[in-house]
Amino acid sequence: MQNSILEVNNLSKSYYDMDSEIKALDNINFSIKDKEIIAIVGPSGCGKSTILSILAGIEDKTLGNIVSKEELVFGYMLQTDSLFEFKTIFENAILGLKIKKLDTKENIDRVNNLLHKYGLSDFKDKYPSSLSGGMRQRVALIRTLAINPDILLLDEPFSALDYQTRLILSDDLYKIIKAEEKALIIVTHDIAEAISLSDKVIVLSKRPAIVKNVYEINLEKKDIPSNNRKDKLFYKYYDLIWKDLDSHV
Ligand code: ADP
Ligand code: MG
Repeated sequence: MQNSILEVNNLSKSYYDMDSEIKALDNINFSIKDKEIIAIVGPSGCGKSTILSILAGIEDKTLGNIVSKEELVFGYMLQTDSLFEFKTIFENAILGLKIKKLDTKENIDRVNNLLHKYGLSDFKDKYPSSLSGGMRQRVALIRTLAINPDILLLDEPFSALDYQTRLILSDDLYKIIKAEEKALIIVTHDIAEAISLSDKVIVLSKRPAIVKNVYEINLEKKDIPSNNRKDKLFYKYYDLIWKDLDSHV
């Protein structure tokens, strides 16, 4: 436990319906340190989202332990930005607080600060349809940060966006996570996104997912994601992870 804020030990998960079992996770182990960024990559349908939904408390685990020194607050963000079109940006941003009855002055102030800090103040009273895809995603991220979570759980947050926007948002996300001093677990199917953004990449096998490899990303010079993509060592990791995902094990 020493350095880590959270440990996932021997986590297994099966889904059951009337007459069959779908084994999604098989003995998953990993840990996350304070302010660490972890990316989880793996084939489609292997169990990535299942890991996040168990951490977020939405799904039950079948076997294993999730251990933390103190109780942690998780900020879970779904794949689609799920903003309500008939609510303003501000109303959307405080929605999580309202639902959890945490809409205290302190928390509302935090949301206003975040909106200001990330260039959305002028849009507070506008509706989501007036925002670009990237800005919408930023609002969704602020909504997730509003409850002041210890660990953010992001499930393929950029997958619906075009390449250029994904690059910009990846830098944005990195800066926001660092400025707000959060730990992050991000699921992505984009190897380059995983390496450029994170401290550690966990590669899962096809279903039922086992941890195939864990890479500590030690680039020559750690920087924002768009610069990390130009790092000398970037393609070393890219090739390794590509091979992990390409082999049919
Ligand atoms: P990934 O996010 O890696 O694409 P998921 O974690 O969503 O994979 O799903 C892993 C496997 O578990 C898939 O085969 C999926 O169909 C199955 N699965 C996911 N959620 C449920 C559920 N609620 N009920 C039954 N099966 C599910
Ligand atoms: Mg998924």
